[in-house]
Amino acid sequence: MHLRRQNVAGRATLAALERVPRSLFLGAPHKRLAYRDRAAPIDCGQTISQPTIVAMMTDALALQPHMRVLEIGTGSGYQTAILALLAAHVYSVERYRLLSELAAERLKVLHVDNVSLRVGDGHFGWPEEAPFDRILLTAAAAAVPSDLVEQLADDGILVAPIGPAGHTQELLRCRRTADGLVGEKIADVRFVPMVAGVARSL
Ligand code: SAH
Repeated sequence: MHLRRQNVAGRATLAALERVPRSLFLGAPHKRLAYRDRAAPIDCGQTISQPTIVAMMTDALALQPHMRVLEIGTGSGYQTAILALLAAHVYSVERYRLLSELAAERLKVLHVDNVSLRVGDGHFGWPEEAPFDRILLTAAAAAVPSDLVEQLADDGILVAPIGPAGHTQELLRCRRTADGLVGEKIADVRFVPMVAGVARSL
């Protein structure tokens, strides 16, 4: 990978990416794509994000070791593992049980033990564990779900691809202030959509 040359992320983020073997998070037919800078297919018709985008999103969160992070869209668990190296605890919600179970196995192999996984609809966040210092959405929502705004700590940061499904979305970095969420655009991105409800099969 050539992320160091691209200047998309700081040292701590790049060091975390280097510690997580992306090939572990891909199924056998796709392992050869692990070290290309592109998204790749995972089970349930979903995708593992492009490393450059993972680096950019992780960096935008400005994580510190004491922080509690909520991730919506566990997917393969790749981004989860990277967040776990940089924060105190990661809570990650996924709508497909199969993906959540596979992610749990991989995190175990890597001895990552500061992650809690849940199968559910991420639109509702994880109210029992709120507030979160940071929230990351790895699926595209039409707007930031209001429950997630409520679960973000004061002065907390939320990073999310916001925009219509099937189109380019804006990757936004939002801070919760006394006046509400204040956001800035980081990049144009293309993510799988955030879908309402828990997946019925798988
Ligand atoms: N960060 C992941 C990328 C996963 S793609 C990785 O590194 O592999 C986005 C994921 O969001 C998919 O797994 C999809 O099933 C999940 N997702 C979509 N809508 C959701 C919802 N409402 N709640 C929870 N997860 C959702």
